[in-house]
Amino acid sequence: MTCEVSMTVFSLSISEEQTTVRDWVHGFALDVMRPVAHDWDEREETPWPVIEEAAKIGLYSLDFFASAFADPTGLTMVLTLEELAWGDAGLAMAIIGSTLAMAGILGNGTPEQAAEWIPACFGTPGDVKIAAFGVSEPDAGSDVSSLRTRAVYDAAHDEWVLTGTKTWITNGGIANIHVIVASVDPALGSRGQASFVIPEGTPGLRMGQKFQKMGIRASHTAEVILEECRIPGRCLLGGKDRLDERLARAREGAKTSGQAAMATFETTRPYVGAQAVGIARASYEYALDYAKERRQFGQAIIENQSIAFKLADMKMRTDAARLLVWRAAWMAATRQPFLAGEGSQSKLFASETAVHVSEEAIQILGGYGYVRDYPVERWHRDSKIYTIFEGTSEIQRLIIARAISGMHIR
Ligand SMILES: Cc1cc2nc3c(=O)[nH]c(=O)nc-3n(C[C@H](O)[C@H](O)[C@H](O)COP(=O)(O)OP(=O)(O)OC[C@H]3O[C@@H](n4cnc5c(N)ncnc54)[C@H](O)[C@@H]3O)c2cc1C
Repeated sequence: MTCEVSMTVFSLSISEEQTTVRDWVHGFALDVMRPVAHDWDEREETPWPVIEEAAKIGLYSLDFFASAFADPTGLTMVLTLEELAWGDAGLAMAIIGSTLAMAGILGNGTPEQAAEWIPACFGTPGDVKIAAFGVSEPDAGSDVSSLRTRAVYDAAHDEWVLTGTKTWITNGGIANIHVIVASVDPALGSRGQASFVIPEGTPGLRMGQKFQKMGIRASHTAEVILEECRIPGRCLLGGKDRLDERLARAREGAKTSGQAAMATFETTRPYVGAQAVGIARASYEYALDYAKERRQFGQAIIENQSIAFKLADMKMRTDAARLLVWRAAWMAATRQPFLAGEGSQSKLFASETAVHVSEEAIQILGGYGYVRDYPVERWHRDSKIYTIFEGTSEIQRLIIARAISGMHIR
């Protein structure tokens, strides 16, 4: 018997086009974001001029994000996100916050709805717009099945009426477009939910509390209050017929796209991981340079194994995190099933790496690491959110544990 080995190409090299995009975004991160990152962190305001600069060069645009999303290898988006977060995670979130709403519209809307609403999430240079995606509520964070925001259909006027409170919403209350997930049939839990577009200027939507945060302070986070907020029937993403069909199937106990939505979430987790990798890399690079320069006891501090070994570990963990992010992004783009929670693995490992590596960077800088004159304390504050939003570390472990065991671990 002969065994024929077919040679398939395996490569971790990125293409020329991807290299060009990465270097272009890196240039923006270095020249535009880094010089103003400290200021915007202190101001805790939406950095409109930075978003405007990004729009001017085509980075904050529907065209750019649509082509990055469409890369069949999945890597363009994660390369972009790593570079932006390397520049500054708060500014990065201000630039990419609108993509959450874009993903919500793309994932749930019809092609006509995508064509109508997605351009409105970005606007145009000189007239930029921003968007928000609201799921979380005061009593429904990790447990999204218990959302209380209700959407009731008013058949006489073909309108939906939304009432409830969303919290922790990126760009919440100041966005031009809000995509809101609400319960249409609470008895069905997450399978009774639907997504709605709230157009700009709709009465009944207002900003509640604006949060003062530990990190990513250039990104606006606030409550969104919906008080009998009336929107036209066409603002239900996916349309009424599809919703009615889905609800009927859910009532019969069949698998529905409520569960499919959770699978979609899994495929966007490497995007969160990629940002965490950017913070880890920034922290590692800064600490490496510092350790070579800083002298104590007549030698550079990197000449002490205890410091050099820290840096070795920081580099290794950052690279390992990036590989998990690339694997998950590639699997999502090539539609490989995530059988072991690979999306969650990438987000979990990268976020915990960013927290660890940025803390080690503070340690390497000593007292200089602890003060705001140096960026590493900011990077450490920024890193922590990646273990919390878009699924906490505990929830990621739950997803991985369930995937590998096939059991409903609690
Ligand atoms: C800066 C920021 C921006 C955000 N942006 C958005 C946004 O744009 N849109 C949006 O919809 N949301 C957003 N969020 C919300 C975010 O996704 C939630 O904070 C997150 O999902 C956690 O929910 P929670 O805060 O209610 O915590 P909880 O769910 O109350 O969790 C509290 C703790 O309990 C643990 N826990 C909960 N359930 C379990 C379990 N079953 N097993 C083990 N441990 C468990 C958690 O891991 C956590 O440690 C944002 C949050 C922040 C802070």
